[in-house]
This record gives sequence, structure tokens and C-alpha cells, in this order.
Amino acid sequence: MVWGRGVFGGRMFGIRVITTCFGEVTPGIQCCVVQGINREIVNRTPTISPFDTSHCSICGKPLNVHQKVRGGTCDNPACRHTQLRRQLQAKHEQEQILRERAAGLCRKMIADTRLEAQDTLPLAILPSNESPLVNLPERRRRMFRDRLMGVISTAAAKLAGPDRNAPHNDDEQIVAPNVDSPQQLSLLAQGCATCRGYCCQPGGEHAFIFVETICRYMERNPGQRPRHVLESYLSHIPPKTYHLACLYQGPEGCRLPRKMRSRICNDYLCTGLIQLLSETREPHNPRAFAVASVGGQIRRAALIHSE
Ligand code: SF4
Ligand code: SF4
Ligand SMILES: [Zn+2]
Repeated sequence: MVWGRGVFGGRMFGIRVITTCFGEVTPGIQCCVVQGINREIVNRTPTISPFDTSHCSICGKPLNVHQKVRGGTCDNPACRHTQLRRQLQAKHEQEQILRERAAGLCRKMIADTRLEAQDTLPLAILPSNESPLVNLPERRRRMFRDRLMGVISTAAAKLAGPDRNAPHNDDEQIVAPNVDSPQQLSLLAQGCATCRGYCCQPGGEHAFIFVETICRYMERNPGQRPRHVLESYLSHIPPKTYHLACLYQGPEGCRLPRKMRSRICNDYLCTGLIQLLSETREPHNPRAFAVASVGGQIRRAALIHSE
């Protein structure tokens, strides 16, 4: 007899199959007559398929719609804690597997390229931008220009008003990692090129350009009128960008010069790059191996080196 929900049997699907009928072994207590298991205990044992989203994945209680959307557990803190622990464990295992694969690939590349006296390199495990490159639609360019015109006029008004010497609001936004040499910057840039700008995707039609960004640019270029600033920013938009990502994100990376970018664009480093920075700083290591991955799969890999 198939016991549990659904028609699939076996542990693989989390559904227990008992191949016989329940009968009365001890008077008053229903048991599986073959295994002698108290049916009440069996009924309390969670045997939920990972594909079953209508019941708590830990204890098997039916879920309401909020619980389903929130992640498949009931409100019992023990269930939520267990699920979180399982997710973290699975993530950790996936990262370990990915790291081992990357290390193997790295060793192979070192052997193929005959890098002298090195059998391994610092690894940068990075995300991967998977969006396709497309021609930039005129609609997106227009949205960007319309917003930027507003930002520039606010910045110009601020610089002409009594607040012109006040510190910029985003000065404290990010604690920037200390990248102290052009060699490190070059290494990081090659890491970002391998990833193809995963973190730039939310840039959309604003490219993180805020009033503070434009204020800084105008302070550095006092001779430029607002329309020159607008022209200058528009002139760097590439004809091809990644679908729905920041419109400055071209096939060769960000087309906006560093001095025109916002602080968040210049200072942000993802976890993979922060780790790379720490591994290549002391002792100074000019080379590293970068892999861009998604869902545990390696999409691209590159030997990167500071120039
Ligand atoms: S900071 Fe990290 S996520 Fe962002 S582009 Fe560079 S490697 Fe990719
Ligand atoms: S401006 Fe450049 S660095 Fe900033 S989000 Fe866009 S592509 Fe990325
Ligand atoms: Zn539960």
C-alpha cells in the first residue's frame, strides 16, 4: 500500500512506501503488520516531497498561501530554523564543489600555459552576468536622458546656492576597501570583465548617477555648463548594452570613465573580489584565477594578472 501523499513511492521523493496494509497488532493501536510500527508514530514522521509546496517541508503541516510564498515552512520557529540550516549547508556544499572545480581548472590552465614555479593561484569565485548583448533601445536612452537632465539641474542649483560647500550626502554611504595600487585595480577590473558586470545590472536607466555624482563632476569641471555636462554623459553610452542592465555596460565593460561614475560604482566590490584582494595583497601576488559562475556552474574562467 502506498502511504503518504502523492503517487510516487520511495525515499527519493520523501514519501514512504509500506508494502502492506495497516492492521491491528496490539489491540486498540493500528500498526503496520509487517514492520510492527505504531501507525500514530508513522503518521507523525514528516515524509514530504521536496516538490510538494503545499506542506511544510520540515514537519508536513499544510501551509497557508503566505507560508508557501515565504519559503515552504510553517510558522514553527524550529521548522524555520531547520530549513535555514539546510539551505546554508546546501549553499556551503555547493561553494565547496565549485571551489574544487575551479582549482582543478586552474591547475590545468597553469599546466597548459606553463606558468613558471606555480602550481596554484589565488581563486576569485565570482558571479556571472548572463544577460544577452542587445542594441540599446531608443526608449531606454530617452528615459536616462530625461532623468539625468533633472539630476543635473538639481546639482547646478545646489552648487549655486548656500549649500554649495556642504559635504555630499553619499560621502558616508560605503566603506570603500583600500585599493592602493594601479596593479590591484587592474586585477580587480579583469575580475569584473570575467564576470561581465553582474552587479551593474540594477543600474538600468539611472546608472547610479545621483545629484552628488554630478556635483563632484561639476566641481572638477567648473567650465562646463549643464548642457555640456549632459552631452558629456550621453557621449559615453555604448550602442550595445546588456539587456535591461545599466546602459553604460558595453561588451568591454563600463564605458563611463571612472571620474564620472558615482561613488557606489567606484567603491563597490563583491565578496569574491574582496577575498581576491586579501589573497593577492600579502605577499604581493600578481596573478590570480577568476571564474564566473551561476548556480554552481562555471561559465567563464580566466588567468588574470596585474599589469
Ligand atoms: S564587483 Fe563582483 S559582481 Fe560586480 S562586476 Fe565586479 S566581479 Fe562582478
Ligand atoms: S555606470 Fe558603469 S560601473 Fe556603474 S552600474 Fe553602470 S556599468 Fe556599472
Ligand atoms: Zn513545520
